[in-house]
Amino acid sequence: MLSLVANATRHLNRQAVISHGQTFSYQQLMQASGQFADQLLGQTSDLQEMRVAYMIEPGFDYVFVQWGIWRAGGIAVPLSISYPLPSLQYVLEDTGAEIVVASGEYAALLAPLAAQKGLRFISLDQKPTQDFSEKTLPELAPQRRAMILYTSGTTSQPKGVVTTHGALNAQISTLVEAWQWTNSDHILCVLPLHHVHGIINVVSCALWAGATVEFLPAFSAEAVFEAFQKGSINVFMAVPTIYFKLITYYEHLSAEQQQEISAVLSRFRLMVSGSAALPVSVLEKWQTISGHTLLERYGMTEIGMGISNPYQGKRRAGYIGQPLPGVKVRLVDEQDQVLQQGNPGEIQVKGPTLFLEYWNKPDATREAFTEDRWFKTGDIAIVEDGYYRILGRDSIDIIKSGGYKISALEIEEVLRAHPDITDCSVLGIPDEEWGELVAAVLVVEHPHDLDLSTLKNWLREKLPAYKIPRSYKILAELPRNAMGKVTKNELKKLF
Ligand code: ATP
Ligand code: MG
Repeated sequence: MLSLVANATRHLNRQAVISHGQTFSYQQLMQASGQFADQLLGQTSDLQEMRVAYMIEPGFDYVFVQWGIWRAGGIAVPLSISYPLPSLQYVLEDTGAEIVVASGEYAALLAPLAAQKGLRFISLDQKPTQDFSEKTLPELAPQRRAMILYTSGTTSQPKGVVTTHGALNAQISTLVEAWQWTNSDHILCVLPLHHVHGIINVVSCALWAGATVEFLPAFSAEAVFEAFQKGSINVFMAVPTIYFKLITYYEHLSAEQQQEISAVLSRFRLMVSGSAALPVSVLEKWQTISGHTLLERYGMTEIGMGISNPYQGKRRAGYIGQPLPGVKVRLVDEQDQVLQQGNPGEIQVKGPTLFLEYWNKPDATREAFTEDRWFKTGDIAIVEDGYYRILGRDSIDIIKSGGYKISALEIEEVLRAHPDITDCSVLGIPDEEWGELVAAVLVVEHPHDLDLSTLKNWLREKLPAYKIPRSYKILAELPRNAMGKVTKNELKKLF
């Protein structure tokens, strides 16, 4: 039996989900997901890993549909509610989904598409016509495929990552233990649910532990603080850009309002940041506001969470922490040889949380692993005093210039400390002589007041000459994908 479902039977009367002001118990979640599994199954007894795509806004309906697909033995394919039509078409075609589920405006969008492709379409807006006789649901072995999640598409076209039930269980149970989830926790979910961060770290961990997950209909800093002020939420997880937005909003409040919010935040149990590097300035400001040191962790669609700062013990600003229990991590050079302590290299990972394959991409799957089955993350890191620090992605953040390998993230961290710079992104641009040159895109409060030669002098006191950006562009805002990651490949086109 699915471990999530097995756990739920121990908490039947507790609150599982709050969405649109309505509260749903674990009993109701079990009932609705069981009925939906029955509806999916129709005349058969097992979906046999059929792909079921669903486009549903975060909330109770989303959760019972996902559980229903799992309980019926299908593969869950969550569609982002912000996908434009071509992306939806791409995912439907790439996964070869056989069944499509949606409600409301998303049903209006997907029903014609499903009809055109001859797929079975289930609208949640219509109550099912036949009565349910509770069936026996299939037994699920750990190696069965459970979900296809698409990577964020930061480096290239998103890849469909296939996770098994065994890997899901490992991803969830590892975090529940490491971050000490209990059934008295109450988390606010503001993240999209087509990505590990929202699906695993927030929703599944909460439901595994018998805790409550509350959904916000739409993100705004005001709505988040309003929800916090109701007093029962004690856990929060977000990407750095969300913390940045909350800080900006907070800074514009009156002293009295600030005091109220800080008091509420100080009672939280846990606040986590991940999916992209957390700027030290954001961590420090949030510390002043909330009294909490954000717990930064590192993960990927392919591995779930791999490295995390400790729940108890020192959380180091600018570092992602240590390997989570059960996750084996090593740093290697370009020949996959393990490096001596203190040298930067690629993070490779092994363990029960790992994905099975890239869907329909046997070549990409093969290339992603070493011969002895270590997964190559493509991220470069270094260990300092026992803590891992990310230097960036080999393909876009490590700038190869005149024999040096320069971490874009390190330079970004320095630039962010400049009083006029509110945001920035550093990248390498092709150069005949040097291979690549360091370039920077800046977001500044008053563009006319920023003098580049003064800025360069300021940088010279902080960085060696070869790390100082040669070329600069100023933008009103940086382009980011749905997970708040800067799309550097787009920025490269500016130079
Ligand atoms: P694609 O694989 O399609 O290019 P993506 O790698 O952004 O997109 P995800 O699986 O969502 O897709 O993100 C994983 C990546 O996010 C990691 O490989 C790493 O580069 C980055 N990341 C996650 N957490 C952190 C963190 N705490 N600090 C820095 N980078 C992080
Ligand atoms: Mg990736």
